[in-house]
Amino acid sequence: MKQIYNFSAGPAVLPKEVLIQAKDELLNYANSGMSVMEMSHRSKVYETILQEAKQDLRDIANIPDNYEILFIQGGASLQFSMVPMNLIKNGKADYFVTGQFAKKAYEEAKLFLDAKVVASSKEQNFTTIPDVANVEIREDADYVYICENNTIYGTKFKELPNTKDIPLVADVSSCFLSEPIDITKYGLLFAGAQKNIGPSGVCVVIIRKDLIREETFNPTPTMLKYKTYADHDSMYNTPPTYTIYMCGKVFKWIKEQGGLVALQKRNSDKAKLLYDAIEQSNLFKCPVDPNYRSIMNVPFVTGNEELDAKFIKEAKEAGLENIKGHRSVGGMRASIYNAMPLDGIQTLVAFMHDFEEREGK
Ligand code: PLP
Repeated sequence: MKQIYNFSAGPAVLPKEVLIQAKDELLNYANSGMSVMEMSHRSKVYETILQEAKQDLRDIANIPDNYEILFIQGGASLQFSMVPMNLIKNGKADYFVTGQFAKKAYEEAKLFLDAKVVASSKEQNFTTIPDVANVEIREDADYVYICENNTIYGTKFKELPNTKDIPLVADVSSCFLSEPIDITKYGLLFAGAQKNIGPSGVCVVIIRKDLIREETFNPTPTMLKYKTYADHDSMYNTPPTYTIYMCGKVFKWIKEQGGLVALQKRNSDKAKLLYDAIEQSNLFKCPVDPNYRSIMNVPFVTGNEELDAKFIKEAKEAGLENIKGHRSVGGMRASIYNAMPLDGIQTLVAFMHDFEEREGK
């Protein structure tokens, strides 16, 4: 098989060991004679898969008992609606708009409540994060919303806003499980699976139990209430069984790697290698404020669209896949999630040097 490195922002590269194990188990899981895809979600075998996945996630992310773990379909985008529908109380919520996904969440929230932009980095083309210390939050806001890692722009909050008693809600889709996290700082956090968690098809929602309410936006469909998922252990209806099984495998892989502390070290080293190469280059530049650079998504440009296109084409030929930046910003972006090996970055950096030399820079 051709060796490639996949820098996709999501669905993204999965650990090879996980894929090989899943392949081995594809037709006959644990001597059941069935594929996990064919199993009833109410069967004993599947119940064990779900419970182990939850427990392993609780262990690796250090999730306290007063937080519920929910598996919900509809991607991270459905949370843009479920959050306001479920957390509404006074009818107000404050949003940090730091990119497209935060903007979408804000626009969606306006359908249900008085959503206010309290800080934005739009003026800076989303290349930075607002200084959280200088942001005024309404005292009667039902929650404060951030997108912690902005996948498209390669920015990350390095400090969380101090919201005092107001629940902090975070979209952590592209940074979850990349480093240790203090869950207690959040009221609710969610992540679409297709980056560091597993294949697409599920969103992991972690919510403080007191925020799971009977009283929600009126009307809220049953399937859009957190309470429905919490009361039925994410099995009110048929869950995405195979996706959850794969997520469970990734959680076990994370444990084997030494957990989030070990992954943080590895991810920081990988990101440093790439950022240093960009800084030392005469051709490539990273447009992101150095104080807020993501260790998961690294955008870079040459400043010349034709040259960017040439780089992307030649990189693909060299086995460096999906290095094209998001269609809204152009240039290049290397997404370097947990499963991207160090030699993937080394190969990319060597290719960048080579390209630069060939271009006579
Ligand atoms: N939020 C962030 C930070 C993302 O990166 C993405 C997708 O890449 C989304 C939300 C949307 O996720 P989904 O496609 O699962 O709805």
